[in-house]
Amino acid sequence: MEYVSPEGLRLDGRRPMEMRQIRAEIGAVSRADGSAIFEMGNTKVVAAVYGPREVQNRSQQMSDQALVVYFAGYLIAVSLSICFSSSLQIRCEYSMANFSTGDRKRKPKGDRRSTEISMVIRQTMEACIMTHLMPRSQIDIYVQVLQADGGTRSACINAATLALSDAGIPMCDLVTSCSAGYLNSTPLLDLNYVEDSAGGPDVTVGILPKLDKVTLLQMDSKLPIDIVENVMQLATEGCKAVANYIREILLENTKQLEYRRGLMN
Ligand code: UDP
Repeated sequence: MEYVSPEGLRLDGRRPMEMRQIRAEIGAVSRADGSAIFEMGNTKVVAAVYGPREVQNRSQQMSDQALVVYFAGYLIAVSLSICFSSSLQIRCEYSMANFSTGDRKRKPKGDRRSTEISMVIRQTMEACIMTHLMPRSQIDIYVQVLQADGGTRSACINAATLALSDAGIPMCDLVTSCSAGYLNSTPLLDLNYVEDSAGGPDVTVGILPKLDKVTLLQMDSKLPIDIVENVMQLATEGCKAVANYIREILLENTKQLEYRRGLMN
């Protein structure tokens, strides 16, 4: 199938290096400490953050601290103290709403893909949260896909960044994410579902734009070695564009909050 026309246009009319339209909204879930909706084209997700709050499951906290290793029936190592942890726990739950995929394959909550993406998002967000400032507490990040059209993990990371900022969680940078792929010998930015399911390589990148660091790098399928840098570079540019947009949204939100505070005084 032809994913890039001879005129250099993709199936949805974008240029290869063009990202889908992004849109964000802060404060979509009023009961949460922080929340946001993030859209990348037809992919739409919501993130809600609760915390920092007191650790709710202390027995879980305790078992997290104990590492017991058995080999061939022998106890070879018992490490770390069996005491309550003083570190911050970050939990993340990714799910897809049943109505998010139209007539495509739907999977119930708790499937392997969702578990893996929850872990990936948690690890990515941990890279920017200043955990040492919030000992003996936990932060819960819930991300749900409302509409899926490729790139849901990137959209969820971007939504989570906004929701964490909205909750006032101290962060050393804003994590942002975008994907890129390679179809018809052309690097493509921000794959949609049709491009994603074409079977070509799909690289998802997460960066800390101010610190100039990569915090997430995932790839499906195979990519020629000489193209890797190109595709990585493209995804990174996408992440930077998302970061600029997220900064604008946060600035606008702060201005609105100040304006409302001014009206109340
Ligand atoms: N998808 C779907 N049903 C599923 C899983 C995925 O329709 O159970 C679609 C959805 O549009 C998703 C895309 O397949 O965005 C690509 O999924 P992938 O696992 O590559 O993760 P993503 O690109 O969303 O991060």
